[in-house]
Amino acid sequence: MKSVPDAEIIIIGGGAVGVGCAYALAKAGWTDILVLERADEVGAITTSQGAGLCGQVRDSAERTKLAMHSVMTFRELQRSPVKPDWNEVGSLRVALSDRRADEFRRLKQTADEAGLETELIDVAEATRRFPLMDFSTATAILWCPTDGYVTPRSIAASYRHNAERLGARFATGTALEEVVVENGRVSGVKTNRGNAGCRFVVNAAGAHAHHVAKQVGLVLPIFPVRHEYFVTVPMDGLTADLPCFRIPELTLYGRVRDGGLLLGGWEPRSLHLDPGEFNLDAAAPPVATDWPVLSSFVEGLSALFPTARTAEKSWVGKGWPTFTPDGRFIIGESARVKGFVMAGGCNAHGISGSGGIGKLLVESLKDANPSPYVRSLSPDRFTETAWDWDDARRRAAHVYETYYGV
Ligand SMILES: Cc1cc2nc3c(=O)[nH]c(=O)nc-3n(C[C@H](O)[C@H](O)[C@H](O)COP(=O)(O)OP(=O)(O)OC[C@H]3O[C@@H](n4cnc5c(N)ncnc54)[C@H](O)[C@@H]3O)c2cc1C
Repeated sequence: MKSVPDAEIIIIGGGAVGVGCAYALAKAGWTDILVLERADEVGAITTSQGAGLCGQVRDSAERTKLAMHSVMTFRELQRSPVKPDWNEVGSLRVALSDRRADEFRRLKQTADEAGLETELIDVAEATRRFPLMDFSTATAILWCPTDGYVTPRSIAASYRHNAERLGARFATGTALEEVVVENGRVSGVKTNRGNAGCRFVVNAAGAHAHHVAKQVGLVLPIFPVRHEYFVTVPMDGLTADLPCFRIPELTLYGRVRDGGLLLGGWEPRSLHLDPGEFNLDAAAPPVATDWPVLSSFVEGLSALFPTARTAEKSWVGKGWPTFTPDGRFIIGESARVKGFVMAGGCNAHGISGSGGIGKLLVESLKDANPSPYVRSLSPDRFTETAWDWDDARRRAAHVYETYYGV
């Protein structure tokens, strides 16, 4: 038998997005799937570093519904033998100005439109839900009871198990070397362990998605931007059932992890890479912990959560999530290269988006007339119009730097 079997669909990359797509496609009836992953296990690269927060409150009904579909998927997988460690603890979004409070009212309207339960709650209610936090300066607090967090590696393992149960196959320790195109259509792949034929290649290669697209002649603006958070040693009063929180004006988010505080944020001057700085056959550069940036997160939080300042740090999560100039995912088949399908450009919500991305990918491939939202995520928006590389890189960095912008 060939070491890399032929398949109708070959997915490049076994991160949250690739394995989530494998599960969604297999559930939709496409069971002849092979996932190629260079690492020895799925979810080992950017996904393993994710904070795992899954927020559904978004600025449009479509984006909200996408995230809601992910939560539905996590609940569904939670009933399978290999669970994603989904913790539906809710989330608190805290405003510290009147302008932000106005934004929260608009977000609530959008949530209502999408059918997502949210509630503007008062300080007493917020304190009851997260006693260690001082909410006295809050101008509005938005509570979403069905938000939560997932353990990133476990969601990847759960997707894998359930996709395999439906017939999908996985080749770990297998690196894509080339996507083969014949007469304008994908016909197979070359890997370090042999070649395989296929009808579709799904590019879910994370920080290497730009390189994989370039192999078939598509230049896509997918820029890795460094992101970090830290976890403290266990602290009194932090229990796993406390809600996640987001404080947009401080550009911070957090949750409880292993009895400690996980705190992450979006620094105003990002460190970003040109994907041309590394090759397809090499890992993205290592990320050195940036303590000044991490310390600025603690300083920001200290007025609301004073005990966080002195807590010893036990772990740092860090990696290169990818950003696009319009802050939107890139999903669907290219009009230029038939059979070449994108599932990338996650703008740092590829874990929380994974269930929804899978659903939209299925819609883009199966539906003769996909919704305007699905069409708007197509890679064609970057291959059929002119744009400037440097400008796109600046705009992608800006998406990171204004992540919680109004
Ligand atoms: C510090 C940090 C915190 C984050 N917090 C959150 C959060 O709270 N919530 C959230 O939703 N998201 C969060 N993210 C973002 C999230 O981690 C990413 O959006 C998500 O993991 C992207 O998944 P992916 O599958 O696209 O990429 P990856 O997980 O990187 O997977 C891509 C895979 O492709 C493989 N690959 C690459 N090249 C090849 C090749 N040639 N052949 C075979 N395989 C190849 C890689 O080995 C890799 O496993 C965070 C990210 C970081 C770094």
